[in-house]
Amino acid sequence: MGHAVAVDLGATHTRVAIIGEDGNIGRRREAPTPAKESDPSRFIGFLSGLIEDITAGRTDEPLSGIGLSVAGPVDITRGMLVNPPNMACRDIPLTTLLSGIFHCPVRMINDCHAGVLGEMYYGKGQGKQDVVYVTISTGIGGGVVSGGTLLLGRKGNAAEIGHFHVDSTYDLSCSCGHTGHWEGYTSGHYLPWFFAEWCRYHAKPHWGPDTAEEIFASARQGDDDVLRFVRDVARISARGISDVIVAYDPAIIILDGAVIRSNADLLLPSLIGFVDRFLPLPEIVLSDLRGDAPLLGAAVIAGGYETRYGDLG
Ligand SMILES: [Zn+2]
Repeated sequence: MGHAVAVDLGATHTRVAIIGEDGNIGRRREAPTPAKESDPSRFIGFLSGLIEDITAGRTDEPLSGIGLSVAGPVDITRGMLVNPPNMACRDIPLTTLLSGIFHCPVRMINDCHAGVLGEMYYGKGQGKQDVVYVTISTGIGGGVVSGGTLLLGRKGNAAEIGHFHVDSTYDLSCSCGHTGHWEGYTSGHYLPWFFAEWCRYHAKPHWGPDTAEEIFASARQGDDDVLRFVRDVARISARGISDVIVAYDPAIIILDGAVIRSNADLLLPSLIGFVDRFLPLPEIVLSDLRGDAPLLGAAVIAGGYETRYGDLG
């Protein structure tokens, strides 16, 4: 695929990198995403500025293309973000506009689909045909390769597993407007809210942590109530993972995202213990790509939707 520009557009940060065919990440830049910017020309100006910055002064081989990994929902047939919960830049034809500026192919994919491709090409999915990538970060999402083929769905939104229904005890609201969804409980964004509701439900004192980090730090200091809560967090995430297993029958589930990567010691053993054994348990492992799986996957599609794991259309 030659050198590609990969863009990982998240609600908080945008990362841009030049990536070689071997997966080596060259020059890279990161900037806060102007999430409140709804003006198409200013938003495109932000992205093109970052891309110009890392491609300035290059004299070696031309770029094979630009790949965008974006937080969904997306419409990859039109190269747009559609109603993203945390960004104002909806319904802007990003791929068409960037292609007009840089005169090369520009392709888009949702960030978790990019993540599973990153793992298939450069991470723990290499050599496997049935892989699920699960990110537990600010939000929760998934990407699935089944029988060697990436599952895209109609517009590129298959496997929105963060919206699997996992609980009716606490009945918490999710960013999508419905209740009981996995993302509304154990994602980094919602974990403090889940903790507040958990304390209320169990009549425990609530000491007002604002972040997931504060809650896990308290668990590490041995607070019994918080440890009990963390066990419930693992139980809820195990409901989601159990649904992933019965839906996709994967050989391996690769977990990524800051919440699970930073707290695997507290979460992973009990999570695996709570997973249903209806189907044989797949390998459940942490990504070793240091958060770069979506960026690497964006580079894969920059070279074309036709990957060695199937024609992406
Ligand atoms: Zn939801």
